[in-house]
Amino acid sequence: MSTSVQLFDRARQHIPGGVNSPVRAFKAVGGTPVFLERSDGAYVYDCEGKRYIDYVLSWGPMLMGHNHPAVREAVIRQAEMGLSFGAPTELEIAMADRLCAIMPNMDLVRMVNSGTEATMSAIRLARGYTGRDTIVKFEGCYHGHSDSLLVKAGSGALTLGIPSSPGVPAALADHTLTLTYNDAEGVHEAFARLGEQIACVIVEPVAGNMNCVPPQPGFLETLREVCTASGAVLILDEVMTGFRFGLQGAQGFYGIEADLTTLGKVIGGGMPVGAFGGKREIMEQIAPLGPVYQAGTLSGNPVAMAAGLATLDIISAPDFYAPLFARTEALCQGLEAAAAETGVAFTTNHAGTMFGGFFTAEPAIHNYAQVMACDTERFNRWFHLMLDAGVYLAPASYEAGFLSSAHTDADIEATIAAARDAFAAL
Ligand code: PMP
Repeated sequence: MSTSVQLFDRARQHIPGGVNSPVRAFKAVGGTPVFLERSDGAYVYDCEGKRYIDYVLSWGPMLMGHNHPAVREAVIRQAEMGLSFGAPTELEIAMADRLCAIMPNMDLVRMVNSGTEATMSAIRLARGYTGRDTIVKFEGCYHGHSDSLLVKAGSGALTLGIPSSPGVPAALADHTLTLTYNDAEGVHEAFARLGEQIACVIVEPVAGNMNCVPPQPGFLETLREVCTASGAVLILDEVMTGFRFGLQGAQGFYGIEADLTTLGKVIGGGMPVGAFGGKREIMEQIAPLGPVYQAGTLSGNPVAMAAGLATLDIISAPDFYAPLFARTEALCQGLEAAAAETGVAFTTNHAGTMFGGFFTAEPAIHNYAQVMACDTERFNRWFHLMLDAGVYLAPASYEAGFLSSAHTDADIEATIAAARDAFAAL
């Protein structure tokens, strides 16, 4: 049996930094990444057989917990019939019908293979549809690693202190206007100045890539208002939030109408998937209906569709979300109480099935500057204490945590008990 230390040494020989996505390298928190071997329900198991209660959940997709039997069986069934055809299948129709029936304002939807592809394609479509070049995003929001969107981005880009990556041509970055999340005033000012040039606003309706920062009342409404007034396309990036706030995503939860929506993670049930869809008039501009080009060899992959459809079946049960929301809230309340008991300055945010903890004396966190002012050193030490105690949190203080329907009250209690000990040991 190899240890994580041994595997990390081997991994670094031929994989840049030993990982295939930067945040996995534990660069922010230090130490050796845990190499995982298998998973089941709320738990992941490392290469040495140690069990962890998992709040990363593959960075969001595993809304029903890991290795759900219905999803696993759907994948096996489809694998027996073929892995990929590069031709249309009935499964794709089922997925599109399903998404358009569930998601508000989704008339047409195109499947892709990742969240990055979904957002990249959605902004190309918005630019093609409006004939404008400028896009608006928000500091600390991450929409994948395509050139136009890797400007002042969150998640791994924040962790590594690469707010805008080398390799993104300045000429392209110049078309990306970055504003402050939850600052409606700033949005009004930008649109008063540049509204005619703005193709789209892209936003995480709940920011999950600078820890967890829900929208302030009125913020999303302001985005809707300025987009409608200026003819810009409002893209709600629900790659992370989709199906984590109820079936209709954060847009249903907050009652905001999107022009285009991007999805990923949950709709693939753990397989590589993304999607973008929205109003017919805009989506009709996509090839082969319209002139805006977008394509994919493996897009609509039958195994991924089977996994996604099995997932949608289960989460559509009428009583699926209420207990999950309640447990997310209970976890946050328990963490705050444990911190208070041990005299640690700490607060939480949560919305739907997402949560985040902040080492700060501030009573509430609403924006990127506040997130950046939190005590990351303390988080890093706390993270390792939790990991030692068998709780797997995201290995960076700029990431949201996730709950699944497989997490039980006992898991939540065990997590809070571990957190209390970890706070006390700081
Ligand atoms: N948009 C959001 C809101 C995300 O959280 C992510 C990934 N965490 C992406 C887009 C990119 O998705 P992917 O990693 O599948 O390319």
